[in-house]
Amino acid sequence: MVTVSRTTVAVVGGGPAGVVLGLLLARAGIAVRVVEQHDDFNRDFRGDTVHASTIRLLDELGLGERFRALPQSRLDDFSLPLPDGSRVLLGDFSRLRPPYDHVAMVPQWDLLDLLATAARQEPSFSMSTGVAASDVIVEDGVVTGVHLHPRHGDGPVEELRADVVVACDGRNSVLRAAAGLHPRSFPVPFDTWWFRVPRAAGDAASALVPAFSGTDVVLSFPRPDYHQVAYFAPKGSDPALRAAGVEAFRARIARIRPDFADRVDTIRSMDDVHVLDVRMDRLRRWWRPGLLCIGDAAHAMSPAGGVGINLAVQDAVATAALLAPALRRGRSGADLDVTLAAVARRRTPPAVVVQTAQAFLHRVVFERAFAGALQDGPPKLPVLLARTVPPVRGLYARGIAFGPLPEHAPRWARR
Ligand SMILES: Cc1cc2nc3c(=O)[nH]c(=O)nc-3n(C[C@H](O)[C@H](O)[C@H](O)COP(=O)(O)OP(=O)(O)OC[C@H]3O[C@@H](n4cnc5c(N)ncnc54)[C@H](O)[C@@H]3O)c2cc1C
Repeated sequence: MVTVSRTTVAVVGGGPAGVVLGLLLARAGIAVRVVEQHDDFNRDFRGDTVHASTIRLLDELGLGERFRALPQSRLDDFSLPLPDGSRVLLGDFSRLRPPYDHVAMVPQWDLLDLLATAARQEPSFSMSTGVAASDVIVEDGVVTGVHLHPRHGDGPVEELRADVVVACDGRNSVLRAAAGLHPRSFPVPFDTWWFRVPRAAGDAASALVPAFSGTDVVLSFPRPDYHQVAYFAPKGSDPALRAAGVEAFRARIARIRPDFADRVDTIRSMDDVHVLDVRMDRLRRWWRPGLLCIGDAAHAMSPAGGVGINLAVQDAVATAALLAPALRRGRSGADLDVTLAAVARRRTPPAVVVQTAQAFLHRVVFERAFAGALQDGPPKLPVLLARTVPPVRGLYARGIAFGPLPEHAPRWARR
């Protein structure tokens, strides 16, 4: 049996892009339904950096106080290790104006819960969980809706009709493929393996310092009870790492991070080590009549710089800011396509700038590290600048904290 329902905007995917878009459109009084395949937001680690641009947005939305009450740790600076064991401070967030002078580390599910709770207070918002979109409905070349299926078991198939479908379904976007939009991929030299080690008294509270040893790279993010750790190795190393087993992996981590040596046995097996097949891609065309892709569905990001969440949020803000007034003016059909094209025009340049910076980092940090060249110290020019011209540390920090073209909440969404 097929049921048919209708909304104004169908948002597929309840990640950062989808939930922020749903909240903002609902605050404009637009009927919006967010469809998420998972039953809740409690899922595998997917990054937890909330940058200053997003914290400022939460303040503008009147959610700052609730956000600051969430369990979180803060990142005040980032440094690079030198061969003599000292560190060079590269980025100093404390040079930015408070309260936007840090990166907050907040579990992504807490952030999404907060945003969804705020959205549910708006009468025109609804969210369906445990439901996956499988396909787009196309009529006369225009996307007019999506087909939905319950994720577990056999339930009724639903045809959700909408004036606009926004694909926020992440880097493996089903809707993007169904709509015939294909991203261009950029080479990435590494994959990432994520795991946790417990925090111990005396661990640095807020520093982000990568560790290099031989051809290995490790980065750890402080959380209140544990360190979220990322191990980087050349792309395609996963089978060899798993074949070598957990003992070898623990030894590898202890060699790179001797301060973790007394805790690596908390990695019980390689099942505790989750591989991320790192990808970087971008759509040339983010839309077709009736459908727009944003967030990772439009541009999968490398973890370098940890900016994927924030870019997805900024895409959502720009989409709401342009789409809500158009819908309120009663625009439809080709008139609405102009708006979808305007969102793509606005958000493509920041995605290009960030991905270009990430490609640069891949070359000067990761490729050199895998070649063992970082043993002799990090790239000289950025280090020299950070050492001799202290405001440069503020510039690096600003670039990470706000990124290019940060968006502000539209007036009608503020509380
Ligand atoms: C292991 C890992 C670590 C990361 N670390 C960081 C970090 O530290 N900082 C950072 O900024 N970024 C990080 N990222 C990247 C970041 O998670 C993404 O860039 C960001 O979440 C993109 O947001 P999004 O809303 O576009 O997509 P996603 O967060 O991927 O959300 C997509 C949503 O759509 C749902 N969905 C998918 N298909 C369907 C369907 N067919 N029907 C219904 N729902 C569907 C998914 O379940 C998901 O909830 C990391 C990613 C991973 C995987």
